[in-house]
Amino acid sequence: TDIFLPVRENSRGWDLKAVDHLEEIEAARRPFRTTIFEAGPVIAGPLDAEDEAERRNPSDPSDLVGRTRFASKADVETALAAATVWTAPPEERARILKRAASLYEDNFGEIFAVLAREAGKTLPDAVAELREAVDFLNYYVEELKKLTSEPLGRFVCISPWNFPLAIFTGQIAAALAAGNAVLAKPAEQTSLIAHLGTRLLHEAGVPKEVLQLLPGEGGIGAALTSDPRIDGVAFTGSTETAQKIKAAMAENCHPGAPLIAETGGLNAMIVDSSALPEQAVRDIVQSAFQSAGQRCSACRCVYVQEDIADGFIAMLKGAMTAFSPDDPWYLDSDSGPLIDDEAHSAIASYVEKARRDGRLIHQAKAPERGYFLAPSLVRVSSIAEIEREVFGPVLHIATFKAKDLKTVIDAINGRGYGLTFGLHTRIDDRVQYVTDRIRAGNIYVNRNQIGAIVASQPFGGEGLSGTGPKAGGPFYVSRFQKPVSPKYRP
Ligand code: GLU
Repeated sequence: TDIFLPVRENSRGWDLKAVDHLEEIEAARRPFRTTIFEAGPVIAGPLDAEDEAERRNPSDPSDLVGRTRFASKADVETALAAATVWTAPPEERARILKRAASLYEDNFGEIFAVLAREAGKTLPDAVAELREAVDFLNYYVEELKKLTSEPLGRFVCISPWNFPLAIFTGQIAAALAAGNAVLAKPAEQTSLIAHLGTRLLHEAGVPKEVLQLLPGEGGIGAALTSDPRIDGVAFTGSTETAQKIKAAMAENCHPGAPLIAETGGLNAMIVDSSALPEQAVRDIVQSAFQSAGQRCSACRCVYVQEDIADGFIAMLKGAMTAFSPDDPWYLDSDSGPLIDDEAHSAIASYVEKARRDGRLIHQAKAPERGYFLAPSLVRVSSIAEIEREVFGPVLHIATFKAKDLKTVIDAINGRGYGLTFGLHTRIDDRVQYVTDRIRAGNIYVNRNQIGAIVASQPFGGEGLSGTGPKAGGPFYVSRFQKPVSPKYRP
């Protein structure tokens, strides 16, 4: 039988338990501890942008991380007019993208520093993020070798702040591997890291008219995605925004322009009475609270079998108390802050409401500064009760009776999302039963449910969670080309 083994060149790793590795990282990132970074549009034409936005460290707003000039409507026009597909032969595109991967690795000190100061990434998160960006570049180069068609044309890539290097780079790398012209609109909160990634891609040899950067707020994305000249959009962000983009594209773009969207999730985990509680608790804490819960893969609702619930919840509360959010620059920080003031106040008021309703059963601790929020545990009787995806360190918990397993599965599927799902059980038949019925793009058994690895675990969902194809999977890059080569004549 055939075994599917993706071609893979592993990105560089660091052992964060080894003192010499930590010293190397510290020496490389320290020079960027107080740098004030500058960013702005990078377009193949004269610049118009004037409005400057400051970015402050969400752990400590007195730390000015940098300033970004946001693109104007005139810059969008200049970029659209200048955008040119990448005519370099596939071997040259591959060479340049590989060189970009090496440049990313060479610049790890600066990258880790900006990820911590601009995006609140702890060192383990920053290492994983850089490695994912490099893996995307290398893996899509392998995929490029299989392409048979032609680029679609002008591709808009709209990326989120929660993986400001990995997802930013992944979308662009796929669009470039396929030979498109890219217009990238990164999340406004993380324009500095996007600017740094763009600098390295250009340094590697991607021509300026092939990759242009348009930092800005939602209006820039809206202008791009409603322009009849575009040929496709890759978007990662909220379900609601994806729906708006789809409507704008339907009205303005040609029918062949695809929307490749990765959106929200209301991800559940089921823990039955045969699970190993220590392991399940550790995996839940990581899935719900690492990265302050700011992952679309994060666990939002755990169902624990009633028979073990009391002891299990006590153990979970203890683990939450030991979990320690702090300035992500510190090596002992378990998670950083929320991304900004707006996110902080929305989620803090969600937790306050749960407290008033008597449903907040535990709140751990977090520093009283910046946009930190303490990990919180909220009781629900079913996932159906959760109002919306709460993009932060809030975990809902429900209990279930063994005979009601099917009802639990139906309630989870009933939310209409389908991103990640976790299961802790030692019963093989149950693994089969549950995984046959749950609708989710990424299902994890007896482990945490975050941190998909490029090529090994293609990532993406269905329903309200996205369109597919999965990022980091074998069907992704070809979606950035014409479905049928115009040169193919049977
Ligand atoms: N790929 C990430 C993970 O597996 C999540 C991506 C996202 O949050 O958009 O944790």
